[in-house]
Amino acid sequence: MAMKFCIETFGCQMNEHDSEKMAYLLASRGHEQVFDAEEAEVVIVNTCCVRKKAEEKFYSLMGRLKRIKSKKGTILGVTGCIAQLEKEGILNRVPFIDFSLGPSNIGKIETAIKNSIEKGKHFDFSENGGAPIYISIPDRTERDVKAYVSIMKGCNNFCSYCIVPYVRGREVSRRSEDIIKEVRGLAESGVKEVTLLGQNVNSYNKGTSDMGFPELLKAINKIEGIERIRFVTSHPKDLSDALINCFGDLEKLCEHIHLPFQSGSDKILESMNRGYTSEDYRRKIDLLRNRVPHIAITADCIVGFPGEDEQDFEKTMELIRDVEFDGLFSFVYSPRKYTLAWSLEMTVPREEALSRLKVLQDTQKAITLKKNRAMEGSVVQILIEGKSKNGGEEYTGRTRTNKIVNLPGERGMIGNLIDVEILKGYANSLKGRPVYQQMEAIDGKKGEVLPEKNMEVLHAQRNEGCRHHG
Ligand code: SF4
Repeated sequence: MAMKFCIETFGCQMNEHDSEKMAYLLASRGHEQVFDAEEAEVVIVNTCCVRKKAEEKFYSLMGRLKRIKSKKGTILGVTGCIAQLEKEGILNRVPFIDFSLGPSNIGKIETAIKNSIEKGKHFDFSENGGAPIYISIPDRTERDVKAYVSIMKGCNNFCSYCIVPYVRGREVSRRSEDIIKEVRGLAESGVKEVTLLGQNVNSYNKGTSDMGFPELLKAINKIEGIERIRFVTSHPKDLSDALINCFGDLEKLCEHIHLPFQSGSDKILESMNRGYTSEDYRRKIDLLRNRVPHIAITADCIVGFPGEDEQDFEKTMELIRDVEFDGLFSFVYSPRKYTLAWSLEMTVPREEALSRLKVLQDTQKAITLKKNRAMEGSVVQILIEGKSKNGGEEYTGRTRTNKIVNLPGERGMIGNLIDVEILKGYANSLKGRPVYQQMEAIDGKKGEVLPEKNMEVLHAQRNEGCRHHG
């Protein structure tokens, strides 16, 4: 029987992609996806337990869903990291759920729903013999100009604060030929940009005879129809020279890397079991910028880790000021059960950790704003992804350096790579306008006249193939 289902997603791109796969599997079996839990007959909550806040948000959502269930008899399921971590124990907090699946079992989503209706509560947390579940999504719509592609799952690093190796298991890489086949299929269905996903893509196929990550990038770079390649996430200790050299060499590889540093203090980095020093990290940044001076660098960092004193925090601030990241995801440390750091004494009072976070975020905000404002007047290439979240008639796209640009546009622009003049830089986005109006002016047709400065920029871009300025 066809049902209406709704998926609520917490967490990282891996989870977003897992939700996409579940939606595809259910839709391909005749079920209909809706985006309001009140309308759905089945609600699936795809969870994240990396930070306490995500876990708290999940339990508060479950309170709301419980009320919907008691009114409408909705089937409720939990998938993802909290499901895997808590297993049947999750019933202590949310006894009213009907099924729960670990991240390796999302391929069985329809069976779980069916069994919970016909036989009662259904749980599955098996590891499938270690084989990753990869599901290609063949049917793309015009909305899907970009797609995630899983290339590996799990992590072997055991950073002392991180729950991922306990819920996603050890690293297992997917065969390169399957990945390439999937990307070819995506290109044929109109996808222009792929983001290769893994907890630590730098160690893809480590210890196997299959190709390594730089070779995989080179192979994908040759696929016709794909215009842009991105990847996430990279671990600084595994960022090889060969991978750094791919930037600038592979024309489809976008000039952006997300490279979490977590702390600027070597003492804290050691306690986090990160496997590099602050100096090592700075060296990698220098290598990347020597290779591609305008590469955008974003990162994650944690404040208030056990043992972090004022000097340690200052070292983190020093790193932020020196590197000048394009963006930063920063958090107060939250202890996660089962991790190595769980037993460490919380030496930084919460108030102090929050005040450090504010100092850090204010500094980063000013850096990001400065960088975005420096782009005003430049011409960059963006891939139009769809309507802007700002509403109205605005459309949105991203630069190769992963910055969001909102601009006036029309539906037919979706999926196109266009040159845009940046009019205004804000803290979280840029405002632009398509350059084609000015191009008409250059050709002597109607349109606005391009200011001299920008014409130079545009010509420089054409001549040197440079995609980004500022
Ligand atoms: S590299 Fe560290 S932080 Fe990243 S997933 Fe693995 S254990 Fe977690």
